[in-house]
Amino acid sequence: MSDAIAHLFDNNRAWSSRMQTEDPGFFLRLVRQQAPKYLWVGCSDSRVPANQIIGLDPGEVFVHRNIANVVVQNDLNVLSVIQYAVDILKVEHILVVGHYGCGGVKAALNDEKNGLVDNWLRHVQDVRDCYVGQLAQMEDPSWRHDRLCELNAIHQAANICQTSVLKDAWQRGQNVTVHAWCYSLDNGLVNDLKVSARSHEQAVEQAQNAAARMFWMKKSKRPR
Ligand code: ZN
Repeated sequence: MSDAIAHLFDNNRAWSSRMQTEDPGFFLRLVRQQAPKYLWVGCSDSRVPANQIIGLDPGEVFVHRNIANVVVQNDLNVLSVIQYAVDILKVEHILVVGHYGCGGVKAALNDEKNGLVDNWLRHVQDVRDCYVGQLAQMEDPSWRHDRLCELNAIHQAANICQTSVLKDAWQRGQNVTVHAWCYSLDNGLVNDLKVSARSHEQAVEQAQNAAARMFWMKKSKRPR
């Protein structure tokens, strides 16, 4: 084994031993049952760890992460995660969590060239292009970046609400709500973007309201 990663095995053995000492039934419970109430759809960024941010143990949150927390209708990966989480695990809340300072969003905002990933980030540019006029009015580039991080999370949450998986779940009366959040690397706090939708129509209305509120605040203090 490479010496460069040997410490990861040391860490793993120490973690396993600590968990068994602190909670002797921990691993047995996990093996027997997976019943998370939450699906987290977040960015792959190494600074945004799902479980730690919301203080949940393994087994309590089902997780999907990709660059810039994008949800597109032809991505079999994210659609499969959502379908399994909703239909089989019956999660009650889907949390779409963007984060301020997202490198993927910044690259999309500024047309940066990073190779193959540029194609993936076209989806974030679609969001940017919906608000190109409002974003251009923001004189501070960091404000533009912050707002697009928020708008992207809101739009991706609305995209989840458009999937046949969610539409079918709501049609049969299943209890599942889709939320949009934005996480701050500066202080570790989550900003609720005020999208908590239980239908596609509600998601569209809440997304429009959230975007309008965000641009109305642009002349006042930085809204976070
Ligand atoms: Zn990111």
